[in-house]
Amino acid sequence: MAHDAPKATGPTKLVIRNIGLVLSGALEKPILDADTIVAVDGKISAIGRGPDIDTTGATTIVDANGTTVAPGLIDSHVHPVAGDWTPRQNQIGWIDSFLHGGVTTMISAGEVHMPGRPRDVVGLKAMAVFAQRAFWTLRPGGVKVHAGAPVIECEMVEDDFKELAAAGVKLLGEVGLGGVKDGPTARKMVAWARKYGIQSTIHTGGPSIPGSGLIDKDVVLEADTDVVGHINGGHTALPYDQIRCICEGCKRGLELVHNGNERAALYTLRIAREMDELGRVILGTDAPAGSGVQPLGILRMVSMLSALGEVPAEIAFCFATGNTARMRSLDCRLIELGRAADFVIMDKAQHSAGKNILESVRLGDLPGVGMTIIDGIVRTQRSRNTPPATRVPDIVGR
Ligand SMILES: [Zn+2]
Repeated sequence: MAHDAPKATGPTKLVIRNIGLVLSGALEKPILDADTIVAVDGKISAIGRGPDIDTTGATTIVDANGTTVAPGLIDSHVHPVAGDWTPRQNQIGWIDSFLHGGVTTMISAGEVHMPGRPRDVVGLKAMAVFAQRAFWTLRPGGVKVHAGAPVIECEMVEDDFKELAAAGVKLLGEVGLGGVKDGPTARKMVAWARKYGIQSTIHTGGPSIPGSGLIDKDVVLEADTDVVGHINGGHTALPYDQIRCICEGCKRGLELVHNGNERAALYTLRIAREMDELGRVILGTDAPAGSGVQPLGILRMVSMLSALGEVPAEIAFCFATGNTARMRSLDCRLIELGRAADFVIMDKAQHSAGKNILESVRLGDLPGVGMTIIDGIVRTQRSRNTPPATRVPDIVGR
């Protein structure tokens, strides 16, 4: 298909051995009994115990040295613009910095910071197609940036969504950041998008910056987007009774973002747990934004929710991996046969009070990232951004 990501050339076989802990990303079984993972041509082909697994013919061998392998983290809410540059805080290299924070996939919630962003229908469609193509071709550091997320305007008609879908656009930007701010119009357009396979999200809560508006529970529930974007506000959260109403009033994804209200995030997590619906919780940073970019934002959310939300660390990692992958229909972010070999290899940070990585996260510390792998290819080694990991993996053979 024309819009697929570029693949590695030539046959490759990656073997990761001597793994201390494998986090699956799946809530129903967050820890796997395995010490070895094999990926052929960028897809996971074996997971298990060393002696049972065929590791011959490896093109890359990684000795994990007893560290933890998790699926690469997903940031469900970013605002990219062009290349690895953001005009919002005028930074270059922010996506590469996120990779050093373990993020291997990003999902655009709209390229809203594009200087001179077109708001007419022809212009916004052209920009969405451009962004989708440009990011899928570029892939800074190897990071998979799912971009091309148009922000809907009142003049759009059903054929516009059909046309966007045919051109490879799979996402809508946050409903509410454009001219459509009312429930009935949003609902109509979100349904058109869904009909053609385009996923949707919404700006929940108070205005993010001057010029944006309030989206309250009535609009959120009526619009019925696939994801309730930053239910903890971006940054201003809705009152708690409205957050509860949204959680109980739909079955859609509940997105918690770093650039939101942390107390409201903890409240949402509590409601989701009470409802036994932790599978709906996904994480984003909502960066770049007024509060900047946070290369460690997803790790910080995992740690914050685990430490203050009383969630085991291996469950909190699912919010940033398997939950999002399932909700967003991605082929990665779960350690399962056939999935993309996208991993983050971590260990507890040096001098953390925790006995191991899971306890250290539960105590509110960040793990140290020692390596990232995307499509079976090593992309980074010891992170320049996280606290140093106690142990790091080595490449021992190619
Ligand atoms: Zn927003």
